[in-house]
Amino acid sequence: MCRHTAWLGAERTLADLLLEREHGLLQQSWAPRRQRHGTVNADGWGAAWWTAAGPGPARWRRAAPLWADASLASVAPHVASGCVLGAVRDATVGMPPDETACAPFVRGAWALSHNGRLDRSVLPADAWPAAESVCDSAVLAAWLLQAPEEIGPRVRAAGEADPTARLNVLAADGTRLVATAWGDTLSVLRTDDGVVVASEPHDDDPRWQDVPDRSLVEVDARGARVSPL
Ligand code: GLN
Repeated sequence: MCRHTAWLGAERTLADLLLEREHGLLQQSWAPRRQRHGTVNADGWGAAWWTAAGPGPARWRRAAPLWADASLASVAPHVASGCVLGAVRDATVGMPPDETACAPFVRGAWALSHNGRLDRSVLPADAWPAAESVCDSAVLAAWLLQAPEEIGPRVRAAGEADPTARLNVLAADGTRLVATAWGDTLSVLRTDDGVVVASEPHDDDPRWQDVPDRSLVEVDARGARVSPL
């Protein structure tokens, strides 16, 4: 399993969200606290963030460990956004090791990350042409982002078609976040100036809430809602 995290709210720097939390994505790349499958997320990282230049996000990915990226560490304190999505990768056996297989995957205004694995043969053939990689997560992202308003029902359909699948996805379009818990951990933190949705809490703030398995999380300017899938 990989780990991902997203923020929607007041502007904050990439460094603040991804690199400077006590148990944030940087620490989760080598020492996740709740990861159920795999131990280290050293096969790459990616981040997407939205600016006035949109509608699509800026995206930066690398196929190397997050902790080894001195360039990101120097740039991240200078980049701020009100919507940020970050991911670190522990590649599934048999999946490509290159940058194109690293989340987040982008289509139009949307970016999407996937924690888990899926038998790609359960996905419709028309998802493949838009996929950024043959990686299961990339094909899944291409299919889900054909219809972002259907992410919940499509995740459920994929999970029913492949009962061994793990399908925690986290998507954003600059104004909202959509996430699913299907087979791995997911947590939500509501603060005075925004909401974090993450594979696991990035600190010990008592306001973190665990999301039940098989749930959909939707976040917009009105707040965060959790519903059964
Ligand atoms: N299956 C995806 C990949 O290979 C995600 C892996 C994961 O969640 N660890 O990149």
